[in-house]
Amino acid sequence: MKAQALYARAKQLMPGGTQLLSKRPEMFLPEQWPTYYREAKGAELVDIEGRRLVDMSYCGIGATVLGFADPDVNAAVKRAIDLGSMSTLNCREEVDLAELLVELHPWADMVRFSRSGGEALAIAIRIARAVSGRDMVAFCGYHGWHDWYLSANLAEDDALDGHLLPGLAPRGVPRGLAGLLQPFQFNDVEALEGIVARHGTRLGAIILEPVRSSEPSEAFVAAVNRVTERSGAVLIVDEVTSGLRLNSGGAHLLYGYRPAMAVFAKALGNGFPVSAVVGTRAVMEAAQDTFISSTAWTERTGSAAALATLSKHRDHKVPAHLIEIGRSVQDGWKRAGEASGVDIQVSGIAPLGHFAFAVEPVRLKTYFTQAMLDRGFLATTSFYAMYAHTPEQVERYLEAVAEVFQEIRAAQETGTLADRLRGPEAHTGFRRLTG
Ligand code: PMP
Repeated sequence: MKAQALYARAKQLMPGGTQLLSKRPEMFLPEQWPTYYREAKGAELVDIEGRRLVDMSYCGIGATVLGFADPDVNAAVKRAIDLGSMSTLNCREEVDLAELLVELHPWADMVRFSRSGGEALAIAIRIARAVSGRDMVAFCGYHGWHDWYLSANLAEDDALDGHLLPGLAPRGVPRGLAGLLQPFQFNDVEALEGIVARHGTRLGAIILEPVRSSEPSEAFVAAVNRVTERSGAVLIVDEVTSGLRLNSGGAHLLYGYRPAMAVFAKALGNGFPVSAVVGTRAVMEAAQDTFISSTAWTERTGSAAALATLSKHRDHKVPAHLIEIGRSVQDGWKRAGEASGVDIQVSGIAPLGHFAFAVEPVRLKTYFTQAMLDRGFLATTSFYAMYAHTPEQVERYLEAVAEVFQEIRAAQETGTLADRLRGPEAHTGFRRLTG
């Protein structure tokens, strides 16, 4: 069955067609994105129609930091499977993994494991609320699909539901949770201080990504640490995407945040399901005063994958490679923009790069994706570097980018960009997909 027919069938069988918003083909190239893969190895994949592509896009949506089907991680997982990945007793790998995570984060003493990012964040928030005895959470950024987070999108008037985080519909989230989440913008010291001034004694947690599209200012990090201490809230850093990019642990270590909990998922197991809440003893022991428990969190492959990923990550100096590859891609985007006269803004730390077209951003992004696919690249306006990416792949990719930017410029001049699209434009959010 061809990819588009398979996806049409998938939408009949599974609401949304896939379990992850970022794997919906409409997000990239409706009716043309390959959508399904047969094999993935290194930085390449073969789609179900047999086309070989170099992945220069979200690369396992940020999970496969080493590369697809990394041989060392796969060997560790296969060993765990052959020795029995599930039993009545516990596996020792989770103790070894906890030991390693605590060693990598000297401020931390204890760890709890789960299997996805959103799940680990729900655990961290539960622990923070348990230990502080307070329900309110100050937040910045995206932290998963659970009720505690989506409640941010409940407004007093249900007609306004969803306005804060466009595209994340909160229907089904108990309205009783409305008002518990207080948003602030990254690097906005005043907003954060304002929340603490208004709600300090009700604030149970402050949660943020330590870095994402821009680096934190020193003043922001200092303010986060200061207001956390002053309010008695629990500081949680969400390292689900930022972790294992700039170092072999949490990015918070590089910027001087002083969290009580740090949450890892995605890259931790190089794509095998495993997530971790790393925290101080004082905070983590509150997990004993609230019920947090699940069978799947005890299986062995996740811990085995994380141990293998972290040890390769450290031994092979993976962050230096991610930074080098990511930086050359970002430099190449800028050069292609300048050479063609196509105006773009580049953002993100080197391993997690992004660019935005200044005019007609959605149409240009759709065309870029289509034209790059024609040249054998899975590409969009973001690039997450993997250890498996080679300088040669980057060079070939950037040659193609330069060509496509020239095409875009020519099409803009003749007003023919829309005619060149062979399908609909990419969707920008959840809401458009439901129509
Ligand atoms: N937090 C952040 C910062 C993320 O980037 C993501 C995933 N995009 C999540 C939480 C949710 O993680 P998961 O998809 O594993 O539930």
